Amino acid sequence: MTNKAPITQDVMTIPRKPPEGGKVNLVGLTRAALSETLIAHGTPEKQARMRAGQIWQWIYQWGVRDFAAMTNLAKAYRAELEDHFEVALPEVVSKQVSTDGTRKYLVRITGGHEVEVVYIPEADRGTLCISSQVGCTLTCSFCHTGTQKLVRNLTAGEIVGQIMVARDDLNEWPVPGAPKDETRLLSNIVLMGMGEPLYNFENVRDAMKIAMDPEGIQLSRRRITLSTSGVVPEIHRTAAEIGCMLAVSFHATTDEVRDGLVPINKKWNIAALLDALRAYPKVSNSERITFEYVMLNGINDSDEDARRLVKLIEGIPAKINLIPFNEWPGAPYKRSSNNRIRAFADIIYKAGYASPIRTPRGEDIMAACGQLKSATERARKSRAAIAAEAGLG
Ligand code: SAH
Ligand code: SF4
Repeated sequence: MTNKAPITQDVMTIPRKPPEGGKVNLVGLTRAALSETLIAHGTPEKQARMRAGQIWQWIYQWGVRDFAAMTNLAKAYRAELEDHFEVALPEVVSKQVSTDGTRKYLVRITGGHEVEVVYIPEADRGTLCISSQVGCTLTCSFCHTGTQKLVRNLTAGEIVGQIMVARDDLNEWPVPGAPKDETRLLSNIVLMGMGEPLYNFENVRDAMKIAMDPEGIQLSRRRITLSTSGVVPEIHRTAAEIGCMLAVSFHATTDEVRDGLVPINKKWNIAALLDALRAYPKVSNSERITFEYVMLNGINDSDEDARRLVKLIEGIPAKINLIPFNEWPGAPYKRSSNNRIRAFADIIYKAGYASPIRTPRGEDIMAACGQLKSATERARKSRAAIAAEAGLG
């Protein structure tokens, strides 16, 4: 096994302390932790829940960052908040817009690290693809992120902060008193950016709770999809504690092939993964699981694979999302041909499963699935390449 032990941290109810000499950032605290943090800074216990609820609504429902604008709080209290706290988000350092409307943001988090966030507009929805870690501990052989070591887990604030900066950019925070607009630009979230979300479980859970809160960002749990490479012990917790939709990076129909593509398979093989998946829909009360399947020429794309796949998932309510491989410089695989992908899809479809072929989006700005990697890392690579070309490397 190549992955390290998961780094987790429970921030449920612990009051947040200020960084050395600085202000405490309130973004990413659970409701309970927000109350505790207010109490720790002098808000009377009896008032804390109500004050936390009010501040919560300003931050997550209205997108307000400035305590002075939180007009249902007394002026003196607002000044006190200003002294101790801040509403801080990751900083957007660049934005690229694809010819197809896809937007890719590079955001900088504490420590100077960078992660990528992608917004994909479609006719009936707008999906934001967010990251959960800088880099990844896993080393899936077809994934660009997998070639970058794990730098660190994102905090809950940095995860929910990605949604908030995208809403800023899309300019869609509601205005108090205005009629409710149901046609949101940012209507869906997929945890399919950088990192393995189930190796950062608590922070992902707390962030998604904020995203789903009816007095906050207000996204339905059915509009949030968490993608995992197969961290089997955390799948039940995802159903019980988050209850969002689940996607699983399946990608192969034999352990031999999956071991080579998704190395976590050596720890939890296909049989163990399928057992965990069988229980998911019931516990989370979601209709079906999405099986992601990257189409790699000559590796996992035969008719036999398609038939084996259908047999393996028998009895699991499922949709199979076929992802044409997104090539990246130096990738060891090629994308399957369109004809091969269609033939594969056809076998699955005839067996009674939806088998959509994902249209690659934002290819011109390297925004497609599995291509996300921090710019600093890329810059380092390209500097190395330049040095090599110049005979210096
Ligand atoms: N770590 C999680 C989520 C991030 S990856 C996971 O592995 O599920 C999101 C999806 O993109 C996964 O299904 C992943 O297997 C897929 N992916 C990674 N690299 C890809 C590439 N180069 N082309 C197409 N899909 C890729
Ligand atoms: Fe990590 Fe997912 Fe990429 Fe695998 S596919 S290396 S788990 S981000």
